[in-house]
Amino acid sequence: MSKGFHRRNGALHCDGVALARVARDFGTPAWVYSQTVLEQRWRLFEKATADLDPTICYALKANSNQAVIATFAALGAGADIVSAGELARALAAGVPAKKIVFAGVGKSEAEMAMALEAGILQFNVESAPELARLSAVAQAMNTTASVAIRVNPDVDAKTHRKITTGKSENKFGVELAQARELAIAARRLKGVRIEALSTHIGSQITDVTPYRAAFRRVADLAKALRADGVALKRLDFGGGLGVVYRDETPPDLKAYAAAVRAAMKGTGFGLVLEPGRWLVADAGLLLARVEYVKQGTAKRYAILDAAMNDLIRPTLYEAWMPIEPVAKPRAGRKLPYDIVGPVCESGDFFAHDRQMPKLAEGDLVAVRQAGAYGSVMSSTYNARPLAPELLVKGTKIAEIRGRQSVEALIALDQLAPWQAGKSRRGK
Ligand SMILES: *Cc1c(COP(=O)(O)O)cnc(C)c1O
Repeated sequence: MSKGFHRRNGALHCDGVALARVARDFGTPAWVYSQTVLEQRWRLFEKATADLDPTICYALKANSNQAVIATFAALGAGADIVSAGELARALAAGVPAKKIVFAGVGKSEAEMAMALEAGILQFNVESAPELARLSAVAQAMNTTASVAIRVNPDVDAKTHRKITTGKSENKFGVELAQARELAIAARRLKGVRIEALSTHIGSQITDVTPYRAAFRRVADLAKALRADGVALKRLDFGGGLGVVYRDETPPDLKAYAAAVRAAMKGTGFGLVLEPGRWLVADAGLLLARVEYVKQGTAKRYAILDAAMNDLIRPTLYEAWMPIEPVAKPRAGRKLPYDIVGPVCESGDFFAHDRQMPKLAEGDLVAVRQAGAYGSVMSSTYNARPLAPELLVKGTKIAEIRGRQSVEALIALDQLAPWQAGKSRRGK
């Protein structure tokens, strides 16, 4: 029997669970994840890179539900984190501190202290002032921080402009020449030990060429630094491997691993990899119901009960995401639909002019490939509570985050004391 998302008698299932049943039992909108697919993706990645013996640090920001992190942690994963919140999440899900790398351009003193206290593997430092601050924080704590200098290799990952990070005009990392100076100068800094170089050139990368160029530049710099007397131990090649949403042909794992292997060859360095999207995108979908079908003169709209506050990728990244009816698709000619949400923004859409089997009010639809950068980017705009997250394993299903209630949402706010007094004034 097929596992993961598949159709049985025409109806969409996740493992052994019918999505129609999920909608009935848990309501819509809802995120549905397949633990089977999460585990499959992890094993595929691990197998393809096994000869390189990497520390695979799952990039939490793609999907940081505790149950998702714990799934990977149970398989031996480390974590790539970008905030103290993600550090706490990783530790709470059972990721060993010694497998955690901390990236991000704006680490605060408090975040540094927390990560030093936990004893993480490395800080991926992105600037000279950050290194100076880390040195001070570590010295104050009487400890030494293991550091990777994040290098900006100035290669174009040829992905969407909002998810490219390895060009010199992006805010990320230290330019190659400066990185060398910084690593050499850092030998005189107390509280920090330069152990690695890291890079991360972007996300949803579909061409292996920029990877090859970036990895080579970083490996060459590492070799030069070794000649300079900087005792590096590791290279961290980041994440970014793309998945198929529509008709992309991202590099297969073999080609990706080959690019890593070519750069690592003969260096003797250890290796860290930070996949995010690749591990989780395929494993999740957003389940929604058609509230209305509205026929305009120029367009036909399917208005869902899910919106941009749930899934912002289409409007933020101009992302094309697959959308399917949950029930057996109606026979007959497909029709173009604008698939939109109820939020009061023209940017609230999932698809424009999408050819779909005929849709009707009450139909369930699934936005596929939504396991990465989906739920984690949700907001409560328009006072729409956060949708639940559900995990399926075989024939079992569990809430891994319940639906937020409107009361809980309102309870996050409180009146200022002088307003609270007002209501008593009439007494
Ligand atoms: C976001 C991020 C990743 C993961 O990127 P994906 O495209 O999801 O694989 C890895 N490393 C760093 C430093 C990141 O910021």
